[in-house]
Amino acid sequence: MVRQLLFSFALLVTLGFFAFTSLRIVRFFRLTQPAFRVTDFGKRCQVMLKVAIGQTKIFRQPVTGFFHALVFWGFCVIAFGSIEMVIDGISGADKSLQVLGPFYTLITASGDIFALLVAISILLFLFRRIFLHVRRFEGIEMKPVSHHDARIALTLILLLMVSLLGMNSGTVALQRTTGRELAGTYPVSNFLAGLLGDWEPSALGAFTETCWWTHILLIFLFANILPYSKHFHVFMSVPNVFLSRLEPLGKLANMDSITREVKMMLDPAAAAAFTGDAPVSRFGVKDAEDISWKNYLDSLSCTECGRCTSVCPANLTGKRLSPRKIMMDVRARMKKKGPGLVREGASFSDGMALIRDYISEEEIWACTTCNACAKECPININHPSLIVDLRRYLVMEEASAPGGIKGVFNNIENDGAPWQYSPEDRLLWARDLEMNTHQPAGI
Ligand code: SF4
Ligand code: SF4
Repeated sequence: MVRQLLFSFALLVTLGFFAFTSLRIVRFFRLTQPAFRVTDFGKRCQVMLKVAIGQTKIFRQPVTGFFHALVFWGFCVIAFGSIEMVIDGISGADKSLQVLGPFYTLITASGDIFALLVAISILLFLFRRIFLHVRRFEGIEMKPVSHHDARIALTLILLLMVSLLGMNSGTVALQRTTGRELAGTYPVSNFLAGLLGDWEPSALGAFTETCWWTHILLIFLFANILPYSKHFHVFMSVPNVFLSRLEPLGKLANMDSITREVKMMLDPAAAAAFTGDAPVSRFGVKDAEDISWKNYLDSLSCTECGRCTSVCPANLTGKRLSPRKIMMDVRARMKKKGPGLVREGASFSDGMALIRDYISEEEIWACTTCNACAKECPININHPSLIVDLRRYLVMEEASAPGGIKGVFNNIENDGAPWQYSPEDRLLWARDLEMNTHQPAGI
């Protein structure tokens, strides 16, 4: 009974803190702008199964992709055991899901094997982070805190796997010593239990209990640390892939406000229908409150893996632009300004903005909108759409653009084309050509 009370208290504290964090994030989402309507659920499920569950984009780098996929699939299987631990902890039962029969055997066996595979993968990832200086983990946006964050999360996952294997091995060894029936199958722990062969039943019981508590408390701790770290993608990546933009990458979203203006110019009669609309408060994106919910979801899901930056032609040719930094800046800006906006409303200002204070104009204009970053991102984050919206603000509200582009804008405005020629001169190139003006027979 004391055990159940202690467990319930720990669970309540965990859920309470998690609810507090979730509420804070939901409030930030409320500050954002509409993006697109979520439809095509069948197609979204397909994309989610292929990209998120199948990890297909991760496999573009086959070796690291393989180990990352092992960790992801391992988490999915092991989560089943964690749910059972919560049920056991509240009810005081032992292995309460064994009623599932053969399915339970399958899940416990695969969970035990995955625990070892995940532990090996994490050890390799830690080795790579500490001893191999992988280029895509470096960059102006990768401060020491980013590296510490990654190492802490990897270490926590390793401890989770070690405590899980310890708990399973203790259970198997205890069953061998006492002759009790064992629920589930544990191929790896069967082997590890041999190392505990000489232990007294009381010592085995204490060891198993310690591993059980260590494992579940680490899960509680991990769940509450994740939202404050880059490893939030553990929760966010699957929903983010489900909510991917389904349109072709190169298609730019129209701005509704501009479309409306154009329609009103072309059809003055339609203007009456729009007179009740509220004035547009902002063209494009200047600060945290102008981004769409999808931009913010993208930023929370970003795992800082650097795959996008590693294929960005602007970055590869020495420009300041790093698509990973754009996502990290959005997340940091909302974290900084969000609480003030929630507290004081839209009038809140801290004298800074996403543009210039976080993302420079140089970065914004270095983008070629090639979409290589969006194509490479393993969780379908779309950077160019946000970069274009940042440009839209600069051009439409500040008339700010690099000199060459300003010339193009002037030409379009004055001559109806990007080139500096009068519309009357447009056909001069054909002046001396002999034109066949005879109609072919039969037409
Ligand atoms: S779209 Fe822009 S940010 Fe993305 S890879 Fe191309 S140049 Fe880089
Ligand atoms: S945007 Fe995507 S590819 Fe780039 S760092 Fe984040 S998760 Fe990795």
